[in-house]
Amino acid sequence: MSNKPQHPASDLRPRPDSAKRLNDAFNRFLGIAENDSRILHRYHSALMDGGEEFAGVFYSYLQSYPATATILERYQQRGGQISELVQNQLKHLWNLLSGSTSDSSATKLEEIGLRHQQFGIEPVWVMGAYLLYWDHLYERIRSNPAIDTMDIPALENAITKFLFRDMGLMLQGYWDAALHAVQSEHQQVEQLQAQVTSLLSNLPQVLWSVDVINNRPLYVSPTTRKICPLDVEMPIPCLGWTVPEDRETVERAWQQALAGEQVDVESRVRVPGEVERWFRRVFQPYRDATGRVVRIDGLMEDATDAKLTIERLHQLATTDSLTGLHNRALFRDRFEQAIAWARRSEVRRDVVLMLMDLDHFKEINDTLGHTVGDGVLRLVADRIKSVLRDTDTLARLGGDEFAVLLPDTTDGRAAADMLARELLACFQKPFRYDDHELYLAAGIGIAVFPEHGEDVDTLMSRADVAMYGAKHKDMPYVFYDAGSDPHTPQRLQLVAEMRRALDNGEFVLHFQPQVDLRHRSVTGVEALIRWNHPQHGQLLPQQFLSTAERTGLINPISDWVLSEATRQCRIWQQNGLPLRVAVNLASRNFQQADLIGKIENAMRCSGTALSCLEIEITENVLLSDIERSTEVLQRLHDMGVTLSIDDYGTGYSSLAYLKKLPLHNLKIDKSFVQDMARDENDAVIVRSTIDLAHNLGYRVVAEGVEDEEARDLLEILGCDSIQGYFVSVPQEAGQFEAWLRDSNWSIGGVI
Ligand code: C2E
Ligand code: CA
Ligand code: CA
Repeated sequence: MSNKPQHPASDLRPRPDSAKRLNDAFNRFLGIAENDSRILHRYHSALMDGGEEFAGVFYSYLQSYPATATILERYQQRGGQISELVQNQLKHLWNLLSGSTSDSSATKLEEIGLRHQQFGIEPVWVMGAYLLYWDHLYERIRSNPAIDTMDIPALENAITKFLFRDMGLMLQGYWDAALHAVQSEHQQVEQLQAQVTSLLSNLPQVLWSVDVINNRPLYVSPTTRKICPLDVEMPIPCLGWTVPEDRETVERAWQQALAGEQVDVESRVRVPGEVERWFRRVFQPYRDATGRVVRIDGLMEDATDAKLTIERLHQLATTDSLTGLHNRALFRDRFEQAIAWARRSEVRRDVVLMLMDLDHFKEINDTLGHTVGDGVLRLVADRIKSVLRDTDTLARLGGDEFAVLLPDTTDGRAAADMLARELLACFQKPFRYDDHELYLAAGIGIAVFPEHGEDVDTLMSRADVAMYGAKHKDMPYVFYDAGSDPHTPQRLQLVAEMRRALDNGEFVLHFQPQVDLRHRSVTGVEALIRWNHPQHGQLLPQQFLSTAERTGLINPISDWVLSEATRQCRIWQQNGLPLRVAVNLASRNFQQADLIGKIENAMRCSGTALSCLEIEITENVLLSDIERSTEVLQRLHDMGVTLSIDDYGTGYSSLAYLKKLPLHNLKIDKSFVQDMARDENDAVIVRSTIDLAHNLGYRVVAEGVEDEEARDLLEILGCDSIQGYFVSVPQEAGQFEAWLRDSNWSIGGVI
């Protein structure tokens, strides 16, 4: 032991009282009496005769024995002299034969023993040395004529006793030294133990160790009782207070530890009368040399705070704070799980994804403020939740977009059909928030695994495409349909071809006249785009414009339409045909920040007056951001551009709402006009729209006038202008000019 303490001899010197006790015991036990000392005293010089020679022989003997020779060699290497040792030896013999029984002589002998022990001189060598002494003295007694033969037995007896006393006391020195070393080591161990115990009592963790062969606790730290006041059940402390639902998990972890694995397990512990807490247990197995698990050390700590923090973080990361619904991240997770589960299933299982977007929600935010907007979103969330089953997942993905997941259905389409209807029924009754009573509508896009896609990303984007379709087709809910998906390969090809079409001049404009009923004159034309596709022939706008709009290509296309329409307008003006030209703008065009600049630029380039331009925009586009619409329309109005609301009647706006916008014309959608003669309702709508629009100061244009009957009826109702096949189909500029020359209509007059 390298850190074995080195004790100076003084530390070990027997205290006087114990030295006396030991000396007395030796003297008494060996029966050493006065006459023993006396007889030695008498023959002292006779016995010492030849002593010097003996001491010399004694050391030669020790030097011939390998173990003792090594010791002596070391002694010499450190500067010691054998001759000195011989002298000491002689002195020792001298003292021994002096027959002293004093306490000090006893103490001295013990000290010699102690030093011998420290030099590494083994007890057996000491005993060997005493045997040599005995042999030498025995021989002296017999050969020295100075010794009276009568005294020999008594002398032998005395020598034997003193030899034993001498040897015994010296070995006692050995014993004392060893005992002292053990005692001080013991003391150190005790100190260390006290330190460890106090350390463990201050630790909030419980530590324990179990001998798993005999199922016997080896150690249990003092804190255990604080945590589990009554139950320190082994081998797993506090298992008794562990809540029944978690007990099996802990026991399973213990079995794993027994199999040699380090395990970490969390469980709840409920001590009667106290709140439930989370505990973490670590089991660390130890193996013996043969690899067998013989011991398991355990740690147990209160993990409640950490657990609550993690739960809170998890909740924050997975919950939408506004509605308390799941958020996009958690929804994805659930969706992934549902797909994985459906994939593993032996029979076919469908997973339904529904994306739902509120119509015109932005209006609520913009006009009533975000507090009302937030309140309404919460009401919507509650209502949707009320029609779902526990197994369905509902999330708010952001803004006014919600997602529903039906994780396991046998017929996805049928289930989605049913649920979509129920969801839409939620919107029949108004939402009441504060003093507001709001009617909302929603569009739903549906994608079904595996029919519409095999993975989360594909299904999410396809449901999104379907939702967009729902908005555009004015259908409350739509299943994904590859045919109308802008991201399918066919669509992507279409986009590439449209780009090429712009460069190659494949787009053309057709013009359809608008006629004023009162003056019987053609006041303007609407520019309608066509695509002369090199392979597919002439394509109509509905065959490519929605894709253009989704991909942003609508912007360069509309730029082209504007410049082409104004260029044509300028030519007509130069040829004495003062016609206004109407251009359609899509939602995306209207959102462009530099829209006004683009319009001014087109007019400047063509040299056309701004009063020759009419812009047609649908009500939904205008209402999606009413503040911006008002601003943009006001500027166009101030520039002298004529502004028309297109397809009126297909959106949800009330005329009173539109009144805020600086508009000139209102174009009644052709669906009402076409059915007017047959459908009483449509006739009523057309009539009341005309009246209301007039009251608000708008001119009214009826679209889709296909026959005389419609024209006559509209004239009676006071409609200002008409447009439709009855007058003319849209045609290229040259054909239109020819038509105009041949027609009975006069030109201009209203501009
Ligand atoms: P829209 O603005 O409502 O245009 C009127 C549509 O009705 C035109 O269809 C026209 O051909 C059609 N139409 C005219 N008279 C009659 C009629 O008597 N009966 C029937 N059944 N239809 C009639 P078109 O040219 O196919 O355009 C469809 C839509 O595409 C337009 O509807 C407009 O929204 C859009 N569009 C056309 N050209 C452009 C353009 O240059 N830019 C933008 N952004 N949209 C355009
Ligand atoms: Ca139009
Ligand atoms: Ca229209």
